Amino acid sequence: MKTKEILALARNTNTSDLVREASNIRDKGHGSLITYSPKVFIPLTHLCRDVCHYCTFAKTPKKVSSPYMSIKEVVDSAKNAELLGCKEALFTLGERPELRYSTARKALVNMGYSSTLEYLKEASKAVIENTELLPHLNPGCMTFQEIEELRPVAASMGMMLESSSKRLCEKGGPHYGQGRKELIL
Ligand code: SF4
Repeated sequence: MKTKEILALARNTNTSDLVREASNIRDKGHGSLITYSPKVFIPLTHLCRDVCHYCTFAKTPKKVSSPYMSIKEVVDSAKNAELLGCKEALFTLGERPELRYSTARKALVNMGYSSTLEYLKEASKAVIENTELLPHLNPGCMTFQEIEELRPVAASMGMMLESSSKRLCEKGGPHYGQGRKELIL
């Protein structure tokens, strides 16, 4: 689909139309085949620079025993998951915690890294070198260059878009306080 067509769909408020169009696109691409990927969650860090109001993942430094998982913990977790039949290593992590917490900055410096993204790259590489799992990375908002940096060690990357509605992101709305994950068209 072309960008213009996608944007036109985003402006369509008729739910039945959207459901019909979504079904057509799915059927054209994949028919009725449903797939899933058995995966292990690898929470590289629970620290995050954002404080999205609904979030149950992010924690403050006082609530975590260590700012980051070590590379050994990452690899051990991935190896165990592989034995259990997992195919994917899903890296879940807070976004750039070093911009908010000195604990994160110090931990990175002590390990020899300048950023969480740099550490993530190393952790993902370790999974590739030590297992057959495919890494999927979820480090939040990134620049094009940062995505390019991670591409060689990632089978895929993702980011949750919280809302495309300005109204729902306003104070009193269900998505108020969702950090940076809104797309206003
Ligand atoms: S960016 Fe993600 S991890 Fe961070 S507070 Fe928001 S939802 Fe939680």
